[in-house]
Amino acid sequence: MQKVHLESVRRKSGGRIHLTPRVPRVGPVTTLCGQTLDDGSYAAVGAEPDCANCLRRSHDQARISGAFFAQEEGSELLRLSLEQAKTRKPNLRVLPTPPATKEKPVEWPAAKAPQETVPDQVGELVTRGFKPSGEGVWRSPQGVIVRLRRHGKEWRFAELVFEGEVVATRGDDGLRLKAGDVELAPTDDGFEVRLRKKP
Ligand SMILES: [Zn+2]
Repeated sequence: MQKVHLESVRRKSGGRIHLTPRVPRVGPVTTLCGQTLDDGSYAAVGAEPDCANCLRRSHDQARISGAFFAQEEGSELLRLSLEQAKTRKPNLRVLPTPPATKEKPVEWPAAKAPQETVPDQVGELVTRGFKPSGEGVWRSPQGVIVRLRRHGKEWRFAELVFEGEVVATRGDDGLRLKAGDVELAPTDDGFEVRLRKKP
């Protein structure tokens, strides 16, 4: 328990020596036993107190606190409580700060060229030079559109559309067709569609 310093004070006219938190230089003073001594009527003394009430109350922390505040000496109590607080362990939990993570640029894997998923041949179409243009639809560099149709597991030639020169020729083995840069030729069991060989 912190011991609050108390001072002795006595009326100039004599009497008991009382206790008070602090003897002011001017103004009234309030003793622990509850008396108020007017300004100029008292003096601080170095002698031991002999007021029974003051002595008893000097052991009563609450009384002393009250006297302190009565004399507007709250700052002294505040100082004491602050000193006590300092000796106490602060109840502050310091959260460990995560180590500063440097913004590292994400290293994306080098873009791989899309795998060639277009097979050399799709059913009756030789795909070399053609670009897929939808389900079963292929387009030649000159804009010949060849449409294939699923027949079981096979893609069979279904339709050719071209706004340009088209030559259809009857051969021994069937119909041959030349449309732009695309040629269509009969096979044993159907047709083969491909880009025309450059002359
Ligand atoms: Zn007293």
